[in-house]
Amino acid sequence: MPTSPPGRPFFLGVPSGRSLTISNLALVIGLCAVAGYMLLEMRREAGARADLTALSLATILTRDVARNIALYDQALLNVVDGLRIPAIRNAAPEVRDRSLFGGVGNVANFGGILALNAQGDIILSSRPGTIFNARDRDYFRVHAQHDDAGLFIGMPVRSRFSGVESLPLSRRLSNPDGSFAGVVGGVIQLEYFRQLFEAVGIRNDGTITLLSDDGTILMRHPSAPDLIGRNVGERHAVQRMKRARTVTFEGEAIHGEGLRRFTVAQVGDLPLRISIAMPLDGIYADWWRKAATLGLVVLVLCGGILALTQLLRRELKQRITAEARTAQVNVELQTLAITDPLTGLWNRRRFDLVLARDIRRAIRQALPLSLLMVDADCFKGFNDRYGHQRGDDALKLIAQSMAETLGGHNATLYRIGGEEFAVILPETDLAGAASVGARICAAVAARGEPHEINPHRVVTVSVGGADLASLAIADPGILFEAADACLYEAKSLGRNTVKMARPEAAVMRMAM
Ligand code: GH3
Ligand code: MG
Ligand code: MG
Repeated sequence: MPTSPPGRPFFLGVPSGRSLTISNLALVIGLCAVAGYMLLEMRREAGARADLTALSLATILTRDVARNIALYDQALLNVVDGLRIPAIRNAAPEVRDRSLFGGVGNVANFGGILALNAQGDIILSSRPGTIFNARDRDYFRVHAQHDDAGLFIGMPVRSRFSGVESLPLSRRLSNPDGSFAGVVGGVIQLEYFRQLFEAVGIRNDGTITLLSDDGTILMRHPSAPDLIGRNVGERHAVQRMKRARTVTFEGEAIHGEGLRRFTVAQVGDLPLRISIAMPLDGIYADWWRKAATLGLVVLVLCGGILALTQLLRRELKQRITAEARTAQVNVELQTLAITDPLTGLWNRRRFDLVLARDIRRAIRQALPLSLLMVDADCFKGFNDRYGHQRGDDALKLIAQSMAETLGGHNATLYRIGGEEFAVILPETDLAGAASVGARICAAVAARGEPHEINPHRVVTVSVGGADLASLAIADPGILFEAADACLYEAKSLGRNTVKMARPEAAVMRMAM
C-alpha cells in the first residue's frame, strides 16, 4: 500500500519555539545583568562623588580652623615666652602689653588673651579691666595638674570676657623649676565656626560637626544646642575615625535622622575633628531618579521581548501546525492520486510507474519478473443481471481475494481498468507466476459469488501472464501486451483460466 512520500523536515531553518524562548530569556537576563551592573556602578560613582565633595569641604574647613587656631596658639605662646623674660615682665604695662598681646584682642570672633597666676587670678589681660578668678575652669585644673597638656582646648563655655559662647584655648605657665605658675588662655567664639560652616553652604540636609578627639560635640551646623557637649565617643563611628586622619563611612546619624555618610578629618595635629555628614537619601537622590528611569526602560524592553517571544511562539506554532497539515494533505493527495477508491488497490498510474521501475531493476539485477493480467469474466452480464452496485461489490470481492492470495508474496496489486486487474511479480519466473495466477483464479471462484450469466455460475476471473524472459525486448508496453494477449487467449479458452506466454507454462483450466 502507499507509503508516505519522503517529506522535507518541516522546520528546516526555522528556530523551534523552545530555542526562541531560551535565546530571548538569555537576552532578557543579559539585559537585566547589564542594567544591574550599570546601576551598581552609577551608585558607586554617586557615592564616590559625594565622598570627594565632602573630602574637599573637610580639607577647606580643617585647614582654616587649623590655621586660625595655630595663629591664636602662637599668640598664647608669645605671652608664655614673653613672661619668661624679666625685661618684658617688669616693663611698664603699656610696653609689656603691646609686646605680649600685639593686636590679637581685636580680631573678630577671637576673644582676648589673659594670663592667670597659680591661684587663678588674672595677672594680665589683653582687655584691661577684666577681673575674675578662673580656678573653677577646666583648663585651669588641667594645666595645674599636668605640665604636658600643651595647647589645651576645653569644652565650649560662656566667655567671662565677652559673655558669648566660646571655645577656650590655653597653655601652661611654668616656673623655672617646672612647677605650675599659672595659665595663659583665650577663647575662639563659636560664632567663628558657625560663620565658617555656614559659608561652605552644605546642602541636602547635610551637617558639619566639630568634635574633640574623645568624641565630644563642640559645635554643629545647622545649630543643635542640645547636642553641644554631648559625648558620642562610645559610638562605633567615632572609634573608626580615631584610626586615621580622614575616614569615610556610613552610619546612623547622632540625632536620629537616619543613615548618613560621614567624612571625618582631623584638624591639623590638634585633638579636633570635623565631621561632614550627608544623608544617604540626598547622596543617592539623583541616582534613584536615574535608576527608576533605567529600571523602567529595562522593564519595558524585557516585557516587550517576552511579549514578542510569546507572539513569535504562537506564530511559529501556527506555522508548524499549518505545515504539518499541508504535509498531511499532500500525503493524502499523493496517495489518492495513485489509489483506486473502490478497491483500495493501486491504480493504473501507479502500475505504469512501478512496472517500468521494477523492469529496470530486474534487468539491472538480472532477476526474473512476471506480470499477470486478471479480468472478471462476463462482467457486463453480471452488472446487467445484478445491478451496478452488486457489480462494485463483486469487484471488491475479487480485489480482496487477490490480496489474500498474494499475502506475504513479493508482489504488487493494481486495478488498471473497469474489471481488470494486474499483478507485478518481481523475482518471479513464469512458472511461479502461473502458480500465482492459478491460485487467484481458484480463490475468486472459491468465493462462490453467484453469477448466473457466467458459464461457471459463480464470479470468476481469467488470467493471462508473461515474464521478461518470454519477450524479445524487455519493455513495459511489450510485457503488458504479451500478458494481455494471454488474457485474451484465456477468455477464448473458456474463462476462469490461466494462460501464460510460453508453451512450457501450460494452459491451466481451473478445476471447480
Ligand atoms: P469478458 O468475460 O469477455 O471480459 O466479458 P465482460 O463482460 O467482462 O467484458 P466487457 O469488456 O464486455 O464488459 C466489461 C464490463 O465491466 C462493462 C461494465 O459494465 C463493467 N464494469 C467496468 N467497470 C465497472 C465498475 O466500476 N463497476 C461495475 N459495477 N461494473 C463495471
Ligand atoms: Mg475487460
Ligand atoms: Mg471481463
